[in-house]
Amino acid sequence: MDTEQLETHYREIIRNTGEDLDRDGLRDTPLRAAKAFQFLTRGYRQTLDEVVNGALFESDMDEMVLVRDIELYSMCEHHMLPFIGKAHVAYLPDGKVLGLSKIARIVDMYARRLQIQEGLTRQVADAVLQVTGAKGVGVIVEARHLCMMMRGVEKQNSCMTTSVMLGHFRSNPDTRAEFLRLVRG
Ligand code: ZN
Repeated sequence: MDTEQLETHYREIIRNTGEDLDRDGLRDTPLRAAKAFQFLTRGYRQTLDEVVNGALFESDMDEMVLVRDIELYSMCEHHMLPFIGKAHVAYLPDGKVLGLSKIARIVDMYARRLQIQEGLTRQVADAVLQVTGAKGVGVIVEARHLCMMMRGVEKQNSCMTTSVMLGHFRSNPDTRAEFLRLVRG
């Protein structure tokens, strides 16, 4: 993504509001906005392999691994406005465990793309399953959407929850119940 080109587009967008691009506060805004947008979409320039970076370890642990309350900042693909919340990711290892920080980095990689919450939830679940070869994966995402809060219906407190259950999390009610209990606890 070319910074200069993006800067030109932002200049055009701001000009269209009727604003004066030469006034002090706005002079560097197109460039700053371009850089911010590049940062917020950097997930397109990352791959799962890079993010995981080999941090996969042999283990005979067979208890559920849960990473709770992973901060999440993404942008909805319908309005390009932020949605903000938390992800809870769990898996049942099958001989391999993933470095803990890597789960958060996987969430980040997919969050830094234009998304709908359902798609993000699914992509994180599929990625964790693919990387770990786990017996099952569960992902819950809870988020507030600025496109709901700032425009349209202006529902300030609506929070959306999405979940994807794979493998044992889908087929075994006890595993799913344990996951839900740990997330709420
Ligand atoms: Zn939206």
